[in-house]
Amino acid sequence: MLNFTVGPVQSSSAVLKIGVEQVPYFRTPEFSAVMLENEKLMLEFSKAPEGARVAFMTGSGTAGMEAVVMNMLTSQDKVLVVNGGSFGQRFVEMLQLHQIPHTEIRLEYGKALRAEHLVSYENCGYTAFLVNVHETSTGVRYDIDMIADFCKRNHLFLAVDAISSFLADEFDMAGLGADVMITGSQKALACPPGVSIIVMSPAAIDRVNSTPVKCMYLDLKSALKNGERGQTPYTPAVGTLRQINCRLREIKARGGVAAETARISAIADDFRRKIVGLPFEICSESMSNAVTPLHPSTASANDIFVILKDEYGIWVCPNGGELKDSVFRVGHIGALTPEDNTTLVNAFLELQKRGII
Ligand SMILES: *Cc1c(COP(=O)(O)O)cnc(C)c1O
Repeated sequence: MLNFTVGPVQSSSAVLKIGVEQVPYFRTPEFSAVMLENEKLMLEFSKAPEGARVAFMTGSGTAGMEAVVMNMLTSQDKVLVVNGGSFGQRFVEMLQLHQIPHTEIRLEYGKALRAEHLVSYENCGYTAFLVNVHETSTGVRYDIDMIADFCKRNHLFLAVDAISSFLADEFDMAGLGADVMITGSQKALACPPGVSIIVMSPAAIDRVNSTPVKCMYLDLKSALKNGERGQTPYTPAVGTLRQINCRLREIKARGGVAAETARISAIADDFRRKIVGLPFEICSESMSNAVTPLHPSTASANDIFVILKDEYGIWVCPNGGELKDSVFRVGHIGALTPEDNTTLVNAFLELQKRGII
């Protein structure tokens, strides 16, 4: 299988090797050391501010999103949330479920967030801003500098779902003044799914400590408390956390976060160059390095996904809902090379010869 989806993605051979090992017992100094190193490297790679902390939650990325909503926002807040696709919609539904007052900034699929979208919300008493910096469902990366400036001006608490963007695009948490960055194990971290990572600024930690939470499993107070000694309140995805440790060390050894982002960016650029001339239209106003969303002008996007999977053993990422037939996505995260891009492009050329696209 050659996997160009947006997660789970292909892991490095070192990460795969850990996957076949027995999963160790974890209430040990050895596992605590692994977790403390995971926290240290996550703080470094997200460029977190002084005094920040990290929680490793067992659960997919959505668990991290919901933990942030439940532990840091209350009915006293007035939240602005960007909704430009299914992940923005997910934040909106969480705010509804947890009865947190909010206003949606709705965007057409594929469209960027612009300054004029924010103008009417200046000085309106908002307290917090939620955004998926890369709305993976449509492949739109929002202008996080513009959002951060807006939040600074208006004194808003800024929580960023960077689940598919972390490592793929530059992200400077301290520089932006962001309070929260969320990511997950199965996107550019290229590990199995099952762990969500939440980086918290001191202001975010203050919010956690002062917010009563009606949920044991997603209570970040106990995650933070246990994390002080490199532990978690309950049995975590021990194997995946060991793989995350391997991957973070691998990134560090290869030049750190900047080198990894440059590598992913080069894979994305290489792909975008190689598809020039194919009957596809890039349907995002502003892309992340993580993914290229494509609108085939002559065929069903879902048919292309199925034929590539069944006949070529190549997985691109289908879209659901109303974009099912009009858009498919090609991911650039995980262990992929320019040669892999060529393999995919050759398959596209063959589909063209066969009259399928
Ligand atoms: C993948 C992803 C998530 C998390 O989805 P899960 O299936 O819960 O891991 C959340 N937000 C964005 C932007 C994502 O790309």
